[in-house]
Amino acid sequence: MAQRVAVNDAAGSKRTARVRVAVRLRPYMDKQDEKSEGPCVRGLGPQTLEIVNWRNATETLQYQFDVFHGEQTTQQEVFLSSVKPIIPHILNGQNASVFAYGPTGAGKTHTMLGSQEQPGVIPRAVREVFHLVRTQVKDQDEWEFSVGMSYLEIYNEKVLDLLSPNSQDLPIREDKDKNIIIPGLTHTSLSSFSDFHTHFVPASLNRTTASTKLNQRSSRSHAILLIKVVKCQRVPPHRQQTGKLYLVDLAGSEDNRRTGNQGIRLKESGAINLSLFTLSKVVDCLNTGTGGRVPYRDSKLTRLLQDSLGGSAHSVMITNIAPEYKYYFDTFTALNFAAKSKQIINRPFVRETVMAPTNAAGKRSREEQDAGGSGE
Ligand code: ADP
Ligand code: MG
Repeated sequence: MAQRVAVNDAAGSKRTARVRVAVRLRPYMDKQDEKSEGPCVRGLGPQTLEIVNWRNATETLQYQFDVFHGEQTTQQEVFLSSVKPIIPHILNGQNASVFAYGPTGAGKTHTMLGSQEQPGVIPRAVREVFHLVRTQVKDQDEWEFSVGMSYLEIYNEKVLDLLSPNSQDLPIREDKDKNIIIPGLTHTSLSSFSDFHTHFVPASLNRTTASTKLNQRSSRSHAILLIKVVKCQRVPPHRQQTGKLYLVDLAGSEDNRRTGNQGIRLKESGAINLSLFTLSKVVDCLNTGTGGRVPYRDSKLTRLLQDSLGGSAHSVMITNIAPEYKYYFDTFTALNFAAKSKQIINRPFVRETVMAPTNAAGKRSREEQDAGGSGE
């Protein structure tokens, strides 16, 4: 009989774990700054950063997070501090989730996937899972482990199997032990990291190719890699534990209506907003511990992550931000979602007059109201 260590029932259990929030600032890129305005965000310490307050150049806004990763932070450092510590739990029947949040162009895919030269969280986490499994198997022979993967995408509130390219929208269900399951989703057994690589690379290429054809689909869908570790006792009572690790490259958090992206159907941007908006509500609910109902069921993404986000699961959100002015409002929105605290400091970001971002003129967006609404 399967025995779960984790108690993930939000209704039955009062225990809800916080989501750790890390912010990663990517390096400044000349080509993203046509007006040569320089960066508008900079790190101050291991937990804090400041962003120019464009409404008042004598002020900056300082934010505090669980962790701040500055521009110089390597892929290895991000992995070591934000992800590696949670991997052992997966081998003990517990669940975890790591997700990259932030506007398109701010570094989510770099953080999660990375490149051949600079591998990101996904390849490092999978290597670590196999490393821990091998070590445990060597040290004892009571337990037997099996590792497997699924890879899916949520696009327009549809759940699509990336390991089975012609799949239709899949249902999300909950079993009697409150585990979230997706009947019909491909589950591929893995015997090694290279095995993982063989299955994962073509599937993620599929997704990228589709994206150029389908209106930058990859920036509007959530790519979700699931690594499952099943641990079986070789001797009676043959206990079994399942641990799940979700590694998620979220859709871009930018407001498509404000940035005036052409050709996006209202339905598409609305659906993305629903999943991301619900995720922000869920994270907020977990982190402020208000004790109310966590609105997992309000979107596909949060429903899917329900047993791996909050409860006794271990979760990390890496909010990716970019330093150039053209990202200012999207950065601002992302920071307000991620921040534990915010403070307005009476100190200019740069000595000379700070220019307002171009798209700010004449438009009073929600972010601007937020900027003016607190701490003044
Ligand atoms: P997103 O997935 O959020 O849209 P990407 O990961 O594609 O963003 O990043 C946009 C660009 O910035 C890519 O060319 C990527 O290689 C580069 N980039 C992002 N983060 C970093 C970083 N920390 N160091 C170096 N280059 C980065
Ligand atoms: Mg991306």
